[in-house]
Amino acid sequence: EAKKTGRGEQRMFTEDMNAAARDALVIDGALRGAIEANEFSLVYQAITNAHSGKLTKVEALLRWNSALLGPVPPDRFIPVAEDSGMIIALGTWVLDQACRQVGLWKQTALHDVTISINVSSWQLADPGFVTLVSQALIRNGLSPHQLELELTERVLIEDTLNVQTVLAQLRALGVGISLDDFGTGYSSLSYLTQFHLNTLKIDRAFVMDIEHSERSNNLVHAIIAMGHSLGLQLVAEGVETAGQAAILERMGCHYLQGYHIARPIVPDELLRFADSRAAALAQTPSQPDFAI
Ligand code: C2E
Ligand code: MG
Ligand code: MG
Ligand code: MG
Repeated sequence: EAKKTGRGEQRMFTEDMNAAARDALVIDGALRGAIEANEFSLVYQAITNAHSGKLTKVEALLRWNSALLGPVPPDRFIPVAEDSGMIIALGTWVLDQACRQVGLWKQTALHDVTISINVSSWQLADPGFVTLVSQALIRNGLSPHQLELELTERVLIEDTLNVQTVLAQLRALGVGISLDDFGTGYSSLSYLTQFHLNTLKIDRAFVMDIEHSERSNNLVHAIIAMGHSLGLQLVAEGVETAGQAAILERMGCHYLQGYHIARPIVPDELLRFADSRAAALAQTPSQPDFAI
């Protein structure tokens, strides 16, 4: 009996592996030529000041509408693009496109927004990366503090020495460095001081249960306290309810990101969001009038 089940499970596992490998092969094939065919686009998700509600940063998120496969989510094609090396060309496209977009926002309510871009470890390891970044800034007329690069803990673990040098160079340029999905990886806390980071993004997995799980609540509280003492900015990811937003604000989290604030949207929609946010803030001044 038991042996039979075991064999069955093993066969299913092998079939899953084959299916995953086949998937990756199909995606790899479809990725070839996808940049030239204009199949990629960026959507932008608002990140607001937890206290004032001001729209301060925007995260660029990559979308792929494949002629062959239809829409494919980044969690499925980014790993394939990393394996094939295509992530270098794709990451360059993202950097260019996002900086150009911020350039276009110059005369709008988004004129002083900071753009956050997700960067893969492969891009950081590319010797031309720092030059690429500074050229994208110059070409599009952005000041370096308007750009923030989001890295995952994996980046810090993989190539410690080279990464430290590259991050130091980027910080010297004035570009911000943000640690994405914080708490889900395996980096030691000493990495937080060793690397030149400005911002920690608390992963959605912890924010999700903050209202109902004492454990998550304590954990987020501890991360925020630690961030404060290290002089880091804190962003909470995956904020989906007003209750979560209120708790995070009370805990001293600086910025909020999530469906409760806004979904990732196309530039025109984001501009409308920014306009209505600016109008709402103008009506409720943060400095109260002297009533006495
Ligand atoms: P991430 O950088 O952690 O981005 C946040 C993800 O959470 C996005 O998924 C976003 O749509 C989603 N999200 C935001 N708010 C909420 C919320 O309130 N609830 C829930 N359930 N989800 C929320 P998306 O766009 O599918 O991206 C997934 C991941 O793919 C990103 O995670 C990032 O690691 C990677 N990625 C996206 N764009 C790029 C890119 O241009 N380059 C690289 N290297 N990776 C990218
Ligand atoms: Mg990110
Ligand atoms: Mg994240
Ligand atoms: Mg993520």
